[in-house]
Amino acid sequence: MREVSLRMAGYLSDQAAKGHAPRAVRCIHCAETMHVSTKAETSTCPRCYKRQTVQDVIVDTEKMGARVETTGILFIKKKGRVWAPGVKAGEAVEVLGELKANVETKGHVVIGETARWRGDCKARLLVVEEGARIEGGFFCIDPHGHFEAERAAEKAAESAAQAIEAKPT
Ligand SMILES: [Zn+2]
Repeated sequence: MREVSLRMAGYLSDQAAKGHAPRAVRCIHCAETMHVSTKAETSTCPRCYKRQTVQDVIVDTEKMGARVETTGILFIKKKGRVWAPGVKAGEAVEVLGELKANVETKGHVVIGETARWRGDCKARLLVVEEGARIEGGFFCIDPHGHFEAERAAEKAAESAAQAIEAKPT
């Protein structure tokens, strides 16, 4: 039985290797870079002032009711259950247990072989393993998906570039 997927295992060992040095994470709301210590559990974004979890969220029991927001990974183990109004994860969402929530991630979603999924899914990449159950949800998978804040920043950069080009030389 697989406890942690290969992707997840690789990610965790990367994190362990980084030791206690401050690390950069991206605000899941406005994409601002935040520098946090390795041990920090939560951090408040210096730009939008929203507090969020900066550690991976690993669920092996029940997690009901509250929104799940992390700059890292939400990983639901085989016996884990997450029923939430919403899930927003910066890195990824990997499910081997049960999830009832609308999910949004800048990274990938894995609906594993033992997973039960109900809810919308907005992600860059989706992997559904054989045996997974999907009981409903609207899926929007965009490999070039950006958060709205990033899109706005890109638009601003584009129009600034156009303004420079438009200037007579
Ligand atoms: Zn922010």
